Amino acid sequence: MARVYLEQEDGKKLHLSGDGRCDTPGFSAKYCHYTLMLDDTKEIIHTELLQSTEAGSSVAMEPLGFKRGMKEIMGDGLDIEVMTTDRSTLICKIMREEFPNVQHEFDIWHTAKGLRKKIQRKGAIKGNEILAAWSRSIINHMCFTCATSKGDAEILKCRWQSILHHVCNEHEWTEDDGQTNRCGHHPLTAQEQSKRQWMKRESSAFENLESLVNDKRLLKDLEQMALFKHTEFIIVLLISWNTLQNHSVMIMFSFSYSFHFLFYCIQGRWRSFTVQCSSTSQKGRDSLSRE
Ligand SMILES: [Zn+2]
Repeated sequence: MARVYLEQEDGKKLHLSGDGRCDTPGFSAKYCHYTLMLDDTKEIIHTELLQSTEAGSSVAMEPLGFKRGMKEIMGDGLDIEVMTTDRSTLICKIMREEFPNVQHEFDIWHTAKGLRKKIQRKGAIKGNEILAAWSRSIINHMCFTCATSKGDAEILKCRWQSILHHVCNEHEWTEDDGQTNRCGHHPLTAQEQSKRQWMKRESSAFENLESLVNDKRLLKDLEQMALFKHTEFIIVLLISWNTLQNHSVMIMFSFSYSFHFLFYCIQGRWRSFTVQCSSTSQKGRDSLSRE
């Protein structure tokens, strides 16, 4: 902690991520362990252990742990610039009302996981099989757009929506305002194009994908994912010794999601792409032209 204070005195801004783990999934959890970590070094800076009786309910434990942790850290004289959490409505409310000066970012992995489930659900409908086949590429594309937008929400949204052209084998297109955009990947050869199943715009699969990609809530959430922040993979092992003493012991360790991200890149399994976006804001055009 001494190092953190010294770094703050030197002007370094504190970026944290937080996540909670309960002893049981769902609404019957009795204990919750909320952890706050430093983004850069992945060190745990604070933890809170809560019981459902003190929070009022199982679902109230995580927000309470988050709020207590934030107040404790700020009460110790540390200034938090960016806080990354999952897309919990209760935590969003706490951030909005009690920590309005702290930038709130969403963990991309939670959002990506939710989107993957929606794609798979729609892809399971007869006639939408091609959507399920595109699931992995779409999620990779979302992660890649967040990772390469450099904090610019306009660029992020533009690149994200470009997937609607790419899945139809359109890699260069004209926007409504007359600007021409294109995918950032290399031109696909006839052989590469023949290996992929492409969607038809008038198909049910495409209409379903379009509704997911342009979902207003998702587009709004993406604005809070432009820094490509993610909570660490906090694994909480609950070793229950209920049979002995009717108590539980929590053993906790962390594992970096960043490693997985890097791993996929090295393995060449990162099959996303960027889009050279010439529409949207001038700021977006300037940023992209420098790349
Ligand atoms: Zn493309």
